[in-house]
Amino acid sequence: MNLHIGVIKGDGIGPEIVTEAMKVLDKAGEVYGYECTYEQLLLGGASIDVHGVPLTDETVEKAKACDAVLMGSIGGDAKTSPWYQLEPSRRPEAGLLKIRKELNLFANLRPAVLYEELKDACPLKEEITGGGFDLMIMRELTGGLYFGERKTVEENGVRTAYDSLTYNENEIRRIAIRAFDIARKRRKKVTSVDKANVLDSSRLWRSVVEEVAKDYPDVELSHMLVDNCAMQLVRDPKQFDVILTENMFGDILSDEASMVTGSIGMLASASLNETKFGLYEPSGGSAPDIAGKGIANPIATILSAAMMLRFSLDQDRAADAVEKAVSLVLKDGYRTGDIMSEGCTQVGTSRMGDLICERIQ
Ligand code: NAD
Repeated sequence: MNLHIGVIKGDGIGPEIVTEAMKVLDKAGEVYGYECTYEQLLLGGASIDVHGVPLTDETVEKAKACDAVLMGSIGGDAKTSPWYQLEPSRRPEAGLLKIRKELNLFANLRPAVLYEELKDACPLKEEITGGGFDLMIMRELTGGLYFGERKTVEENGVRTAYDSLTYNENEIRRIAIRAFDIARKRRKKVTSVDKANVLDSSRLWRSVVEEVAKDYPDVELSHMLVDNCAMQLVRDPKQFDVILTENMFGDILSDEASMVTGSIGMLASASLNETKFGLYEPSGGSAPDIAGKGIANPIATILSAAMMLRFSLDQDRAADAVEKAVSLVLKDGYRTGDIMSEGCTQVGTSRMGDLICERIQ
């Protein structure tokens, strides 16, 4: 079976970490019977250097023709990079926003996994985190407060600002369906987070999610108010499987959840549209401070590739094998510098990729 994967290596550490993820995809393919063909795509600073713009229409069309896209990170050091002398619409990040829009990526998935071996990086007490945890935040990405009408006016001499939070039932339904589908591939639990005691948009959210739930009798649904969820994430993160929520709540809760796992170099992410297509990338940035040194942690990108195998490419067994290999490498005591602790063996980016490949079975 052939998988056609778009690859955006990007800027900074991007090329180093994506190279390792490709190595892992190829190794898993040898074991699980698929072959990858890669379409190299330019985005961000790398595209500015070649085309003068952070994203071309041709790149968008090529990305759309792929089964899924794997991305490193884009952007440079805002103080020193010439990319940031350009007007904002021509800077690297503008390309990222544009490709998300062009590909209609409305669902953002951010897993927060605490591995037992990395529990020292977690700021929570051991009695809360013992045995680790594994939850997934599904955030609506293209609606709500960040995309509603806004204005600032003077009313009776007083400056007043308005931001409107709007969702229609179709926007809610399509992300709820995504969340239930993903819960089915996990522990079959969805916690829908809202503020239904105050907001109309949340009351609509809750009722549409309940309608969708009827088609998923095997998935358990519960509702939680966002203020309670913020507390529960630090009180008992193990209770969650999939957290489904709107844009702004998801923005805040996903950062909270990643903080409790401790390390940016371990955090994968995915953005999905209505089809199986998705864009998969590490949560961290392009880390210009360590770019080119061969010391970046490739695991977030490798875990993003595992998500791509599972959610876009229907290669669930290969995805499980990659995740297991990451876990084994950590158990065997190998660490990149960012997650290094006493008694472990420090390795560079490429060696970490090799060690993970060796453990794929
Ligand atoms: P950053 O995430 O790049 O770096 C923050 C710190 O984390 C740095 O010390 C860095 O060395 C470290 N770090 C990040 N990823 C790591 C990894 N895989 N292994 C080891 N250490 C790692 O954040 P920043 O410095 O604020 O941003 C740098 C650039 O990245 C900016 O241009 C920013 O716009 C861009 N950025 C891009 C994305 C994206 O592509 N989606 C996301 C965030 C930031």
